[in-house]
Amino acid sequence: MISQTDFEFLKLAVELGGQGPQTSSSFSVGCVIASNAGIAISTGYTGEYGTGLHAEEVAIKKARDSGASLRNSVLYSSIEPCGRRLSGRTSCVEHIIKEGITRVVYCLDEPPVFLQPNGCEMLRQAGVIVDRDDRLAPAVLRANRGPMRTRQGAV
Ligand SMILES: [Zn+2]
Repeated sequence: MISQTDFEFLKLAVELGGQGPQTSSSFSVGCVIASNAGIAISTGYTGEYGTGLHAEEVAIKKARDSGASLRNSVLYSSIEPCGRRLSGRTSCVEHIIKEGITRVVYCLDEPPVFLQPNGCEMLRQAGVIVDRDDRLAPAVLRANRGPMRTRQGAV
């Protein structure tokens, strides 16, 4: 179960996800990283640093650039972090594990639009605590109408 503080950070992640450019070729995701004591460390959203960098990568990069340690931190994301990528680049789950992030809270399961999602499974296998709260799912879906259309078209 997630706390009220968790919910506030998740809500911010969902709001950030609505700020990025909307395309049909990628999800619009927002991300917040906080210490396990509930202090915000960094934020990011898809497209914030140009194309190709996922929200989680942006937030991790910002934290590293500022010298902040992410060990034992909590990552909040509007969509389940990716376990693999069509581009073959390092996935967000791999970055999360490498940085020592110990808990992930997200809103929407990654829809099977681009690849069969395996992010949560990989996180749990690595010992990361994973919590989902989908109360804000309608807002996440609104920010991702493009990829959702792709999904419907592909069925
Ligand atoms: Zn990703």
